[in-house]
Amino acid sequence: MADTKPATQTPARFQDLGLSKIMLASLEQAGYQQPTPIQAGLIPKALDGLDVVGQAQTGTGKTAAFVIPILEQLMSPKQAPGVQALILVPTRELAVQVRGEVEKLSAGRRIHCVALYGGKPIRGQIEKLRRGTQVVVGTPGRVLDHIGRRTLVLDDVWCVVLDEADRMLDIGFRPDIEKILRRCPNDRQTLLLSATVPPPIERLAQRYMFEPESLNFSPTEISVETIEQFYFTVDAIRKFDLLVRLLEREQPRQAIIFCRTKRGTQKIYERLAKRMPSVDCIHGDLQQSARDRVMSAFREGKLQLLVATDVVGRGIDVSGISHIINFDTPQFCDDYVHRVGRTGRMGREGVAYTFVTTEEGGELTRIEQRINRLLKRDEMPGFEATAPPTPIVTPATALGQPAVEKPQPPANLARRPPRRHRRAL
Ligand code: AMP
Repeated sequence: MADTKPATQTPARFQDLGLSKIMLASLEQAGYQQPTPIQAGLIPKALDGLDVVGQAQTGTGKTAAFVIPILEQLMSPKQAPGVQALILVPTRELAVQVRGEVEKLSAGRRIHCVALYGGKPIRGQIEKLRRGTQVVVGTPGRVLDHIGRRTLVLDDVWCVVLDEADRMLDIGFRPDIEKILRRCPNDRQTLLLSATVPPPIERLAQRYMFEPESLNFSPTEISVETIEQFYFTVDAIRKFDLLVRLLEREQPRQAIIFCRTKRGTQKIYERLAKRMPSVDCIHGDLQQSARDRVMSAFREGKLQLLVATDVVGRGIDVSGISHIINFDTPQFCDDYVHRVGRTGRMGREGVAYTFVTTEEGGELTRIEQRINRLLKRDEMPGFEATAPPTPIVTPATALGQPAVEKPQPPANLARRPPRRHRRAL
């Protein structure tokens, strides 16, 4: 894969990207005045029918970067009666968010988009699919469920997007993704978006993509540029008191407090709710309806503090988040990047605090190596840890790597003829 570094110059106008009038009108209606770097980089390549691996996280405008070329190339239901574009995402929240972006950017066109994810009765989804849809966005498990029931047929799919691919692999969706890709036509276009491109992602791309081009809009640049990052050393039993003091000191506009486990998240939420007025939590044990309610309150700014786990916290797209607090250090370094990327979005300023116990010096070092930057030390009087964290000295390359997978032979993908532009609806 040839690696293309990010374009430093963003074209001033969407008009320069060869988009249709109807698309330019919806972009204007959405208030998007200028393409973001990933949009400027990805849209022309996707319109040319190329397979692309784009290294970018949420907050960079990546969703619109793949939604725009899909909408521009959809065929009329007469030409292609089935689903034409399939977008796979790791979480329900992201599925809803991506569907929202499709709906926003397809203003003025008769396009149907269905979100397929677990936690909602399957009946309603089947009914929506039966009525006909051009774009499906879903989590791999539920998508596979529909394929098994024959309620989702992928014969007309010409574009597959793997959004937050690293996250999907982290949470074990690889076998499901492979099964789904094998059900899609070989001459499809595949776009893969990922905050990081570790070897398992490269192998997935080699196996299931056709001569993919690589665009690098790596997340470290976002964190470095706009997000101030601090750590506190603190004894484990004093973390909650430190959290309260930090919130009192900082008075955040909106903050997400990340915990590692569902139980931990629930516990911190319950304790915090006794001390602070505007707190709620979101984790995988909550009913979908409760998660939806909390997310919309947070998005609308009615909720100030959200305690969350990584899986649901990732991909949250709320522009008002001023603070990220890593109550627990993340299990994977990439989660740190994703957590911190929830703030400082679209160039706004943000700040992130990570609580590090004396046993977690190694984790702090790993994070610093991952983002290639040192976190600044912050202190709260009366909260000094009994001993500073013990750092580890290990080469960055050997750290944070997922378990080695068996190499797989490249898939026997048919060579595709050059793609012609599809007619927009
Ligand atoms: P994403 O990285 O896709 O999660 O997008 C982050 C946020 O940026 C979303 O709220 C989008 O609606 C918004 N957005 C995407 N593209 C643009 C743009 N060109 N101008 C302004 N906002 C944008």
